Amino acid sequence: MSAVYRVDLDAFARNLRRVREAVAPAAHMLVVKDDAYAHGLEVLVRRAWEEGVRWFGAFDVATGAAVRAVVGPHARIFVWLVGGVDDLAAGVAADLDLGIGDEALLDDLATLAGGAARVHLKIDTGLHRNGIRPERWEGALGRTAALVADDRAVFEGIWSHISEASDADDDDARALFLAARHAARAAGLEPRFSHLAASAAGFARGEFREDLVRVGAFSYGIRPAGGPGEAELGIEPVAAVVASVTAVDPGGVHLDVGSLHGLPSTLSGRFDVATPAGPRRVEVIGATETVVAPWDDARTGDQIVVFGRGALHTATDLAEMIDTIGEEIALRVSPSLARVYTA
Ligand SMILES: *Cc1c(COP(=O)(O)O)cnc(C)c1O
Repeated sequence: MSAVYRVDLDAFARNLRRVREAVAPAAHMLVVKDDAYAHGLEVLVRRAWEEGVRWFGAFDVATGAAVRAVVGPHARIFVWLVGGVDDLAAGVAADLDLGIGDEALLDDLATLAGGAARVHLKIDTGLHRNGIRPERWEGALGRTAALVADDRAVFEGIWSHISEASDADDDDARALFLAARHAARAAGLEPRFSHLAASAAGFARGEFREDLVRVGAFSYGIRPAGGPGEAELGIEPVAAVVASVTAVDPGGVHLDVGSLHGLPSTLSGRFDVATPAGPRRVEVIGATETVVAPWDDARTGDQIVVFGRGALHTATDLAEMIDTIGEEIALRVSPSLARVYTA
């Protein structure tokens, strides 16, 4: 058997329950961008729906439509990178909730044929990624109110995204968010859904939860680099890279994964894997194979869990060794490694 990316769906379900409990009474919006953080969109979305998740979040309309195809008409699906009038039309057709962070899209909405768009207006609270700048907010509210009056839009919510890197910055962002909501109400726009937190603030900071918390990383058991551990958060890694021994020679044991499968070669010599004879160092990560320090009785076909669930190290452990974040390691896992789902 060749190397695979093994995903434990029951562990995923336990994380979903944990997230739900941690963010309650706010609802959990499961973020499924980047192919559900490389775990495989379709299978994870289906399981999440079975587990009672009713909100999904993705970057783009195409992904939102793919989620719709899996879960059917009753889920709410929020997307936040909308690229213009065709994209808006596709989003409305797929019955998506649209994150609008660009005033030009409000003009486009006025010209759109078809049903009313469900709009979540985004205030830029400091990240400057997209979002309506505070000095333009009043104008955007006015245009939104006009769209609502014309039945071109339904005002569903206001939202933002915060860095979750410093409590002080997040507090400043929240103050801008609350001011923006106040202004929306004054303009006659009452948001049904306010949302600004992702995993970290959603767990750690109750006042950031509002109505929805957009949780990606923690749902997949990816803890923050330099932050609290899995046990403290109550989450567990869901996925593991499982490699097979392809050859044994005096220099080492060869595994069938390498940098082309997503293992950063900069991790060569930096971490151990569990073997039947105890931990052994990963000595060289090549393009298509990895050489591990030898052990007695190593055999071709043996399976070795390289990182993730059941391994000595999680994605975030490896990330910390090379000064990055767990998502970076998880998202590099190549689509060429077959996803194998266990329960
Ligand atoms: C990625 C993302 C999230 C989820 O962040 P996590 O830290 O993975 O929970 C939430 N909201 C937006 C806008 C995002 O891009």
